[in-house]
Amino acid sequence: MIYLKTDDEIQKIKESCILVCKTLAEVASHLRPGISGFKLNEIAEDFIRSNGGIPSFLGYKNFPASLCISKNEVVVHGIPNNEIFEEGDVVSIDCGVYKNGFHGDSAYTFIIGDTHPEIKKLLRVTNESLYEGIKTAVAGNRVGDIGAAIQTHTEIKQHYGVVRELVGHGVGKNLHEAPEVPNFGKRGKGPMLKEGMVIAIEPMINLGTRKIKQKDDGWTIVTADKKASAHYEHTIAIRKNEAEILSDHSFIEKSIKNNNELGNFS
Ligand code: MG
Ligand code: MG
Repeated sequence: MIYLKTDDEIQKIKESCILVCKTLAEVASHLRPGISGFKLNEIAEDFIRSNGGIPSFLGYKNFPASLCISKNEVVVHGIPNNEIFEEGDVVSIDCGVYKNGFHGDSAYTFIIGDTHPEIKKLLRVTNESLYEGIKTAVAGNRVGDIGAAIQTHTEIKQHYGVVRELVGHGVGKNLHEAPEVPNFGKRGKGPMLKEGMVIAIEPMINLGTRKIKQKDDGWTIVTADKKASAHYEHTIAIRKNEAEILSDHSFIEKSIKNNNELGNFS
């Protein structure tokens, strides 16, 4: 069942998404060599709660934290721990907030210090693919158009690995709703996109093989070849001519600019 949202509901989802992005910006201002994922998680949870939200991920299917923190070969769903970050780590941080009855969901991949040009390119291309997907996400198109755009930009043009097992999703009263939004697919296939649908688009793109493994903790997803992976996510509303992006990475990107300890993929 795909729930179409009213403008009032979309506004509430947007408020949750903005709090997610401000939380990620706050986390980015603290991200540097020597800090742990535990500490970042604590900062995020405090920030979310002090702004009237509830962390969506904490307790979701028993997930133990407010952030997913996924370093280097970890694709997604990394559990924050006491390992400290080092120069050269690439770190995907995913956050969800529940506020006023609705969830928001967004993710960004950060570079601590500097890293290899080929990994920077992976991040840049993955981030571009998110916007390539969003361009096709308009009423009358189909879910497969989004996946085809992302797959073309990453797998066909760059020979990166597009993770198949994990996908984007509807967002609303539940963190994960129908439809599933794969990062691969065929144009013109899949459910029709309709005005009022709210979906999270989240390319998870690997430098090497698309194959993944799950660690024994039941959450952490890693690349099978241990090569790096990137992840960017926006929650968007489907409209007639152009999607409305409800999350806002400009908060995060401003925070990266102001933090000398972080690098940029461009
Ligand atoms: Mg997310
Ligand atoms: Mg998501």
